Amino acid sequence: MIIVLKPGLTDAELAAIEEAVRRAGASPVLVEGKERPVVAVIGATKVETSQFESLPGVSQVLRVSKPYKLASREVKREDTIVHVGDVAIGGDQVVVMAGPCAVENRKMLLESAHRLSALGVTILRGGAFKPRTSPYSFQGLGEDGLKCLTEARDETGMKIVTEVMSPDKVEIVARYADILQVGARNMQNFDLLKECAQIHKPILLKRGLSATIDEWLQSAEYILSAGKNRNVILCERGIRTFETATRNTMDLNAIPVLHEKTHLPVIIDPSHGTGVRQYVAPLALAGIAAGADGVMIECHPEPEKALSDGPQSLTFELVERLLRDLEAIAPVIGKHLVLSHRHLPAARPARKPHGHGHADSVAFQGEHGAFSEKAARQYFGESVKASPTSSFREVFERVSSGEVPYGILPVENSLGGSIHQNYDLLVENDLHIVGETKLRVVHSLIANRGVKVADIRRIYAHPQAAAQCERFLRQHPSWSILQVYDTAGSVKMVKEEKALDAAAIASSAAARQFDMEILKEGIESDPQNYTRFIVVAREPAKAGNKVSLVYATENKPGALLGTLEVFSRKGLNLTKLESRPIVGKPFEYLFYVDFTGDLHEKTVGAALKELKEHTTFIKVFGSYPSA
Ligand code: PEP
Ligand code: MN
Repeated sequence: MIIVLKPGLTDAELAAIEEAVRRAGASPVLVEGKERPVVAVIGATKVETSQFESLPGVSQVLRVSKPYKLASREVKREDTIVHVGDVAIGGDQVVVMAGPCAVENRKMLLESAHRLSALGVTILRGGAFKPRTSPYSFQGLGEDGLKCLTEARDETGMKIVTEVMSPDKVEIVARYADILQVGARNMQNFDLLKECAQIHKPILLKRGLSATIDEWLQSAEYILSAGKNRNVILCERGIRTFETATRNTMDLNAIPVLHEKTHLPVIIDPSHGTGVRQYVAPLALAGIAAGADGVMIECHPEPEKALSDGPQSLTFELVERLLRDLEAIAPVIGKHLVLSHRHLPAARPARKPHGHGHADSVAFQGEHGAFSEKAARQYFGESVKASPTSSFREVFERVSSGEVPYGILPVENSLGGSIHQNYDLLVENDLHIVGETKLRVVHSLIANRGVKVADIRRIYAHPQAAAQCERFLRQHPSWSILQVYDTAGSVKMVKEEKALDAAAIASSAAARQFDMEILKEGIESDPQNYTRFIVVAREPAKAGNKVSLVYATENKPGALLGTLEVFSRKGLNLTKLESRPIVGKPFEYLFYVDFTGDLHEKTVGAALKELKEHTTFIKVFGSYPSA
């Protein structure tokens, strides 16, 4: 049973509710979701909902039909994000855990850690205590193995995940590891699960060799209910079927099933799932396409000499290739691959922002749930503080004044074209582009609950969103389109108006944010719909491989060609050229240019110097790592 709390209830009301649960012979567990805080009533079978319904601060009392409560979506609707230092697992991210099956010796582990860290892998795996089918196989290095893992962490900054096999070892493994793995063979070792419940470190719970999804979730429930540990990550690692061509059968069905039944993050282990090196990458990609929140991959400096699981271990070259493919696939389903060198460090300006604002906050235009906010999380990571503003101009103002160190702005969409206002604001303001990110944009038609497509007469939409959904809107010529300069804000307007004849166009995240209904998902005119966002700051980025600038030329024959010849002579590759009318000078134009290069390179410096001779105005927006 769960007691849904009213927003803003007082501490005294909460205490009284918890006391009433205890008096009924059960234990209260507070689950503080962003959307809807609840008190889960754990442990008693004969409690009536009416016992709690009339208490102050209670909004609703619901029975949970599942044998697992705290693990269920019924208790917590939003995804659980498990934080391991600065690495967040769950939500829109795809994390990679990689390393050898077993820590065989210090040298091979450190080599693996350095090679993987250079590829951007954030979490290192490696068994120190090994569950081996045969008692004669290598059993692991024990505590010495744990020491090697911490040395690897100290040298690379990676987080470490390693297996714990018995309740009496939880304390020692927790002393060294960042994440404790409970292996397939121990999924129903209930004493071990209860011990894991007593610590605060995340637990990676693998699926048992023949366990059903419900049994697996009940094992997760042991960890969630027996103590204070709410950090459980589930790992599908293949199950035993009649098939013998592979070591196990990867149950990819489990991924969407779990996402429906539980809020916990789900990762996949295609190494144990297939047992065969050449099948690991295809299954890893399939699992991410199916919605997994990460992958665990076994690899080895010399797989043919591995003391365990060599046939399924990848080489580092194969890991690198897999990471490239994962990075390409993740955005297709609205996720992004988390690599250590992709995010904040590269974007961090050379000097610290002088503002007094939050060090990692970023201003975006729109309400929470906006695509810009999703882009900010994609670029900076899940824990960034994203602060909404009402206009693009305000984003520039808040960064310029030092109130926030960064701003994020859409500049170009693959269906709708450039967002010119932001180009104009870049000319007007003195901020630097320090990074960029590309986001797949999937639009939904969103309305109040109960509204049908046939009821719709009006659409609230951002002009860019409406342009991107032009083909869908053409099928409904009678609808009038009302412009709102904020996608998530248009959902809020429909909600606040309680409109029964209107709908908005925005992301499914915005629908969730405002608890509205999605009438149709994927209404953009083409599924290849990407928006490019830039990250701006007061100081330039330290390094980059892409330069953005704007210039104007004299109004005479060959003037533009003269500027383009400079790039050609210096061997600089133009990736964008766009003209834009100059305000107050009809039929004169500014030219926006992107090219591959770094402002710190000599050729680039020389090219810009030469360019000045061919232009009447020039402004460099920045040089930054391209997305
Ligand atoms: C492992 O990850 O090293 C392992 C032993 O996996 P599983 O428990 O899934 O067999
Ligand atoms: Mn293994």
